[in-house]
Amino acid sequence: MLLGFPCVLEPGTGLRPRHGYESHWPLNGDSIVALVVNEMFFSIQGESSFAGLPCFFIRLTGCNLRCSYCDTRYAYEEGNRMSVSDVLAALPPDDQGLVEITGGEPLLQEECPSLVEGLLARGHPVLIETNGSRDIRCLPEEAVCILDIKCPDSGMSGHMLLENLRYLRPQDEIKFVVQSRNDYLWACRVLRDGPTRPPEKVLFSPAHDICEPSELAEWLLADRLGARIQLPLHRLLWPGVEKGK
Ligand code: SF4
Repeated sequence: MLLGFPCVLEPGTGLRPRHGYESHWPLNGDSIVALVVNEMFFSIQGESSFAGLPCFFIRLTGCNLRCSYCDTRYAYEEGNRMSVSDVLAALPPDDQGLVEITGGEPLLQEECPSLVEGLLARGHPVLIETNGSRDIRCLPEEAVCILDIKCPDSGMSGHMLLENLRYLRPQDEIKFVVQSRNDYLWACRVLRDGPTRPPEKVLFSPAHDICEPSELAEWLLADRLGARIQLPLHRLLWPGVEKGK
């Protein structure tokens, strides 16, 4: 787990923060904020209502969970230490396209909200995909949070911080990766017992090679949930390519 990187933060005016979050962007002087970055790449967004759009991905290193179906194990430990400014400099100049911060679990890194602020300040729409175990209130107000709530067959549902459902804003999305009928029913219970969400902000993905997509589609239609089904777009576009896509 990657916690406790040395960092120096200078207070700044910044953007509107979420409740309880003190903005640290822009940074002043020689302040260095350390992130550990596993990879950055330009690809197609595939796992949200933004699916299909070109997107610049920033994958932060480290994860506190070990989901049974994880396809990004390479991001548990490998990474390069970079400042927020280094990461911003890696983006194409004058580009204000969609950016997603993912992991691993990006909210393990204390400086992730500063990175989000830096991206927002450059004019990028920013998505953050988080694994549901960390408090999302640290995120700036303008970002879109994709809350990936882990179902029982992942082995990680006991680590979910379901209070996060109360902190979602209108633009935020919930995602469930479903391996079985049991997972699907568990997700339905979470939706039923939690605060009401617009159905178009709820995403169900069949776990690759485990859950039959057509079966999941039939369950969603039968229950009239109105939620979206998501197919693993990058696996269709680039079969067999695990990194950098
Ligand atoms: S949260 Fe994501 S990166 Fe972490 S173990 Fe689960 S699938 Fe892998």
